[in-house]
Amino acid sequence: METNITEKETQTTQQPIQQAAAQQPIQTVPQQPMQPAAAPGTGTVFCKFCGSQIAAEAVICTHCGRQVEQLQSAQAVQPQVIINNSNSNVNTNTVYVPMGKPKNKWVALILCFFFGVFGIHRFYEGKIGTGIIWFFTLGLFGIGAFIDFIRILFKPNPYYV
Ligand SMILES: [Zn+2]
Repeated sequence: METNITEKETQTTQQPIQQAAAQQPIQTVPQQPMQPAAAPGTGTVFCKFCGSQIAAEAVICTHCGRQVEQLQSAQAVQPQVIINNSNSNVNTNTVYVPMGKPKNKWVALILCFFFGVFGIHRFYEGKIGTGIIWFFTLGLFGIGAFIDFIRILFKPNPYYV
């Protein structure tokens, strides 16, 4: 039986947020009137390193350049990964039964049992070459004949050679 599994490569598509955002039409966000752009006193903090007055939402101090605020949560930073896994495996397994010449199991078994050391069962199976070897070596000194007997014993009936 031959196994032929064709496994195509799985496609993984990553779409970062930036790309998804870029596909959307660019809209000019109007400034929200509820929040003044620069309110004096509010929305500013002092850098804990250099003491300069910086915007409250500033992550990095504009004066000393050090990071004063933690970045947004790590989940928000991670890009959205869309895995498009289209599995198109084609299984072409077929039960392959080699159709040779049918041989009767019990005929071969009896021939092997009585004349195995002469290779008669191998002549019956059509294996002339090894049959001659079996004939002149007494079934590979009995070992080959014995192995053949076990081999034929577990064959289906009929079996094909
Ligand atoms: Zn600073």
